[in-house]
Amino acid sequence: MERHPARERFVSCWREIRAVQSAEQVLEWDQETYMPAAGAEARARTLATLAGIKHARLTAPELSEAVATLASESQAEWQAQAREARRHIRRAAGIPRRLAEELAQAASAGLAAWEEARRQRSFAGFAAPLERLVGLKKEQAAALADGGNPYDALLDEFEPGATEVGLLPLFDRLRARLVPLVQAVAERPPVDESSARGDFPLADQRALGAWVAERIGFDFTAGRLDRSSHPFCLGVDRRDVRLTWRGQENDFRPALMGILHEAGHGLYEQGLPEAWSGTPLGEPASTAIHESQSRLWENMVGRGRPFWRWLLPHLRERFPQHDAALEDLWPALHAIRPSLIRVEADEATYHLHILVRFELERALFAGQLAVGDLPHAWDELYERNLGLRPRDAAEGVLQDLHWAMGAFGYFPTYTLGTMASVQLFAAARRALGGLDEPLASGEFAPLLDWLRREVHTRGALLEPAELLREATGEALSPAPLLEYLEAVAGEVYGVRLQGGNE
Ligand code: ZN
Repeated sequence: MERHPARERFVSCWREIRAVQSAEQVLEWDQETYMPAAGAEARARTLATLAGIKHARLTAPELSEAVATLASESQAEWQAQAREARRHIRRAAGIPRRLAEELAQAASAGLAAWEEARRQRSFAGFAAPLERLVGLKKEQAAALADGGNPYDALLDEFEPGATEVGLLPLFDRLRARLVPLVQAVAERPPVDESSARGDFPLADQRALGAWVAERIGFDFTAGRLDRSSHPFCLGVDRRDVRLTWRGQENDFRPALMGILHEAGHGLYEQGLPEAWSGTPLGEPASTAIHESQSRLWENMVGRGRPFWRWLLPHLRERFPQHDAALEDLWPALHAIRPSLIRVEADEATYHLHILVRFELERALFAGQLAVGDLPHAWDELYERNLGLRPRDAAEGVLQDLHWAMGAFGYFPTYTLGTMASVQLFAAARRALGGLDEPLASGEFAPLLDWLRREVHTRGALLEPAELLREATGEALSPAPLLEYLEAVAGEVYGVRLQGGNE
């Protein structure tokens, strides 16, 4: 076999960086699941140390030299390796090691302070840690933006190539049709959701959720499912994927749909290309592409009639007192009802929650909003966008962990990923000549194989826009999502919308 010393040098440098990152991820997962609260300070110090080591590795001359020697590579894979490596190096080298360490420390401390503030349902104890974190993020964004828009530098961490001016028209188009849709639904009688409510012991909900995750293809020999206060998925390695969940005893939807969502993320992680494991190309294409996978399984599969034709008998087996019919349950899975909590929001109003966060983040980093004014600004925007006002900070500004860990510029990817999920599902349906029959008989392999081929095994070979275009033949657009939501609302509520000229 031909040897490639330059490639080998690059891969061995990168494997060290990825090993540090895996250690960070295990510690982050542990912080959100099993770590005792008193361990928070030590954990923040440990994570700061690891961030410093990662920064040193990413900015080491030997890595840049190894990347430079890849420039003569003609293979697309190695050109893409160099492209991705340069992006990571640029983000690391743009800030001093001291700032990388402080950011990691402040993010870990922010999470601990957030947990406590949320427990007390008061923003007061969180204000100072958040202020510090925002200050550090502003420093980072200004350094990386180099005179450009600081918010773009934040977006770039999660969504390579995304910019504020690029996102605004997409979100404006979404808002323009979503607001009338939600208003039209509000004028109709509410959907009877009693078919999703009852008494569902959490242990049984977990068992059902894990079983469904396994049936759609999640490999539990290479993954776990644990409780956390905020559900998430972390890919420590493609053979070590951590999912978390939470549930409500009186409603089976949050746990089941949440596990389907995280399992969708998990399938992506487990399907990443083995041959590129530990290199930049072995990573997901972007946060929005990641979210497209979770939303596809949660909404396009998991709220669809075919899926429920298959699942309902199993649900009854697990919860014998639950005897709702599909005709009653289906509307309950598609109820549209403005609410205060994003992760429990329905598939339509969900994006209004994202628009609130998008607006507040941009204002924070444009210097138009102070951290101390955030709770009030939050409540005002909820009143205006969703017609509801939080009673306290726990159901308001403290509900999400993203800002507490310094993840600004992340929220938009939820909506971008949801748009992509509708486009990808439609493309899979076209390519496979329909999906209803396999889904109704619990055969998920055809869909998963398509996703493996078109998305998962490509890793970060293609940039997100290119990946989507190759898989679907289209650019990212809010129109398919809006058409889907309007069709569902038409069926459930009998509302007729003009659709508009998307
Ligand atoms: Zn997600």
